[in-house]
Amino acid sequence: MQDCLFCKIIAGEIPSTKIYEDEYIYAFADIAPQAPFHAVIIPKEHISSADEINENNSFLIGKVFEAVANISKQENLANGYRVVNNCGEDGGQTVGHIHFHLLARRNLAWPPG
Ligand code: 5GP
Ligand code: ZN
Repeated sequence: MQDCLFCKIIAGEIPSTKIYEDEYIYAFADIAPQAPFHAVIIPKEHISSADEINENNSFLIGKVFEAVANISKQENLANGYRVVNNCGEDGGQTVGHIHFHLLARRNLAWPPG
């Protein structure tokens, strides 16, 4: 999709540090990491937010979590991690392409605040 930052990252038009990729998913290092390990996991298909998940594209969310499990093994995150999706203005979403933060390698507070 035109003018979508994360679509441009998938296309390689904006450089990123790749962490994981498969047919459906791309994951890269967050530019402003909130934990020692901070990946951003995105479906290659443009979906604006969690609010736009439907019966046709919801399988991609399963693919996101398959990627989480694969990245956990690849990066040795067996001690634990947190997966976060920010949705919409109140949810703190700043990029309009659905993404999941994978945070690890520190003790993560709960509730998150
Ligand atoms: P949100 O705030 O929408 O949940 O998450 C967007 C994330 O994308 C933020 O954590 C932000 O640091 C990250 N981000 C924004 N622009 C870029 C970029 O150009 N490159 C990378 N690697 N991460 C970005
Ligand atoms: Zn996009």
